Amino acid sequence: IVNSYQSNQNEETCSSDNICNETHNKYSKNINEWTSKINKEIQMAINKYIPCEKTNCSCHKAVIEHDLNPYQDGITKELFTLARSKGTKYQIIKGELYREKECHFPARCAGVEHYLGAVAPKLPNLEFIVNTRDWPQVNHAWGNRKAPVFSFSKTNDYYDIMYPAWSFWEGGPAISLYPTGIGRWDKHRVSISSAADKWTWDKKEEIAFFRGSRTNEERDALILLSRSDPDLVDAKYTKNQAWKSDADTLYAPPASEVSFEEHCKYKYLFNYRGVAASFRFKHLFLCKSLVFHVGNSWLEFFYPSLRPWVHYVPISPTAKADEIKKYIEFFKENDSLAKEIADRGFQHIWDHLTDKDVKCYWRKLLKKYALLIKYDVNKDKDLIRIDIKK
Ligand code: UDP
Repeated sequence: IVNSYQSNQNEETCSSDNICNETHNKYSKNINEWTSKINKEIQMAINKYIPCEKTNCSCHKAVIEHDLNPYQDGITKELFTLARSKGTKYQIIKGELYREKECHFPARCAGVEHYLGAVAPKLPNLEFIVNTRDWPQVNHAWGNRKAPVFSFSKTNDYYDIMYPAWSFWEGGPAISLYPTGIGRWDKHRVSISSAADKWTWDKKEEIAFFRGSRTNEERDALILLSRSDPDLVDAKYTKNQAWKSDADTLYAPPASEVSFEEHCKYKYLFNYRGVAASFRFKHLFLCKSLVFHVGNSWLEFFYPSLRPWVHYVPISPTAKADEIKKYIEFFKENDSLAKEIADRGFQHIWDHLTDKDVKCYWRKLLKKYALLIKYDVNKDKDLIRIDIKK
């Protein structure tokens, strides 16, 4: 892919001026080196990439192996006791689901239980601890002893075992557009992909878009770029529950919230971590827009199946506005390349992150986990039975 626009432009403006020629050649040399580096990165990533099979949530298998690896010697009663205080206790006994009475976030527990109830009948007896907080619990970099706690998101510094977040079904963060919380991934898949059919690639505005609150300052660079370059970027901070003043929206009044479907109007969509991984990520792919994913340390279970440059554009979390601008401009000038990455990103999420895949992941995870338990799991009389409405 040749960045012909830039080289032609430089030749024309500088043809009769030696000094100009020199600076522009230097400039265009840097730009050309940079663009060919990006092109190489993309080519290498695509050559290396082996798409996974469509069956049995196989795309995410390595994550289960990775997260259970610290527990290969077995989960003893002692390890379970260490995990006990870090979340909500669940048991599956004779195919039925039980939970301790108190749940810190009832809607989140309900979101998790939708899937647990569906997979329980086919599972052996087992017990496990589900952390429904936003952040993981057992950090080995801070010297924590390992303990098998299920958390929805983590970095590689944690011993936590990733599970599909409650918000695939319910209990996601509530915003004005989704007052009972973002949820029902099965429904979002349909409504957002329909919006993508309406906003086909050629109809999309060539603008980078972001709407969200300031849960992390890493987002500031894009907001600032939007303020200095509004024709290239439309990124604004919205209010969240912690909002107190304009300082929390980087000294601008909070913007109105925008639905996932409306995101499909824009060609380039940005994802950032929040407190942990943001639920936004998976939805963005459904628009068939090009996803720019900033930072790679905070994960959900399906992130490792997505590959940088194959499915999305990776951006460093320390990238300043100038660098972000360069990436957006590169893809504006390499439109068909942008579309190919966007289409692959969509297809991957569409094929490998169905509601069935989420259930399948839970089933495989719990089956493997059950095999590691080294003690007899006896029914805990203090737990209550959870009946799931089908
Ligand atoms: N959100 C949205 N439209 C908006 C603002 C937020 O759909 O205008 C969604 C967003 O995609 C995310 C959730 O609401 O899934 C919370 O977003 P926020 O930026 O507040 O926090 P995050 O969870 O990303 O840290």
